[in-house]
Amino acid sequence: MELCDYINKVREDFPILSREVYGKPLVYLDNAATTQKPLCVLDAMRDEYLNVNANVHRGVHYLSQQATDLHEAAREKVRGFINAGKIEEIVFTRGTTEAINLVASSFCESQMQPGDEVIVTEMEHHSNIVPWQLQAMKRGIVVKHLPITDDGRLVCSSTSEAAEPSGDDIETYITERTKIISVAHVSNVLGTVNPVEEIIKTAHKHGIPVLVDGAQSAPHFKVDVQAMDCDFFAFSGHKMYGPTGIGVLYGKEDWLEKLPPYQGGGEMIDKVTWEKTTFERLPFKFEAGTPDYVATHGLTKAIEYIDSIGFDMIQAHEQELTRYCMEQLMTIPDMHIYGPQLSTVRSAKGRLLPTGRKNCQLSTVKDAVVSFNVGNIHHLDMGTLLDRLGIAVRTGQHCAQPLMDRLGISGTVRASFALYNTKQEIDILVAGIRRVAQMF
Ligand code: PLP
Repeated sequence: MELCDYINKVREDFPILSREVYGKPLVYLDNAATTQKPLCVLDAMRDEYLNVNANVHRGVHYLSQQATDLHEAAREKVRGFINAGKIEEIVFTRGTTEAINLVASSFCESQMQPGDEVIVTEMEHHSNIVPWQLQAMKRGIVVKHLPITDDGRLVCSSTSEAAEPSGDDIETYITERTKIISVAHVSNVLGTVNPVEEIIKTAHKHGIPVLVDGAQSAPHFKVDVQAMDCDFFAFSGHKMYGPTGIGVLYGKEDWLEKLPPYQGGGEMIDKVTWEKTTFERLPFKFEAGTPDYVATHGLTKAIEYIDSIGFDMIQAHEQELTRYCMEQLMTIPDMHIYGPQLSTVRSAKGRLLPTGRKNCQLSTVKDAVVSFNVGNIHHLDMGTLLDRLGIAVRTGQHCAQPLMDRLGISGTVRASFALYNTKQEIDILVAGIRRVAQMF
């Protein structure tokens, strides 16, 4: 089957994609914010509420045990999805944001003193800035950031003629007060894929753990937390065809053992008396209260759905869409695309396009996100007018105000792709942008 026929078949799994808005066929290009859900996820969740529903871990009765089995099967499914070593290392959270808050809070409480430093990057989502800033306010830790180049790469991974890409430059920022590094795997604005393996290697030389924010990587390519050797990895179900309200924190067992609980309540305790309370074993120590056990089952189905298509196919298709989108956008006068340029996007065969640069590493390719502005047209105007044409893009600062400050802009228009998007949709986007541009 031709790829486009295959994608058209895939689209049938997502009924929302065939709806209209303002009488126009929907072109959904806001996948970095959230993806649509396939029927198998929706059906499984409805079926669980209809036929199984009972609180997990607590009941001896049949339904509770069945719900618990589904919930714990999800943990095993997630373990396999990111190749974690043990299910004890998989903590369910509400999403990436909660996972990062958990680490920031528990790590700072137990491992950091006033004046100790966390290093993030200039391209972080607020979810990987503000939790650390809250700790700075509470405990006097210091939040430092790695700068980026004008084309949106970490300085430590820049591929200039002069410098070979290397994670070593990060050493300039590490001091004896650095206690943790927390970095986005993929930027939600620029699409930059950061060289996290290099960063982790360098950090580990200094005995510093690394948290990787995988919100924008887990949906797009295979993540192997053991090969990456990260200490923590966070991602959200709703950005990878799963339900809202469920996310994952992976943590190496040693680290999770060392960290104190994040929240207190039922499920996370071993024994409670007025004198002393002891906590459950991993991972339950970090899962206070009733978990969203229906969402975890939905997440299982989302992972099975991704597996049924395969990341080879997903990645090749999304890279092709990214490349095609950038090529087409660049034909529009006064187009400014932010982040790594076309030379860093893989071609359909999985190779980088000719770059004219030395050693452009695969680890610094651009992923399925394209942010742009056209001339002086305000991103909000562009987004609003595209919406009238049925095209859903995101506009604004994308929860990354420090990055906008670095780029000297108030916001961008962002098109972001998922496995069900097509080149025809990109053609509609490009035609829409031309039409809007003519109005100004
Ligand atoms: N980190 C990155 C890079 C993101 O793109 C997002 C959401 O867009 C988040 C964190 C926060 O994810 P959530 O809102 O699902 O917790």
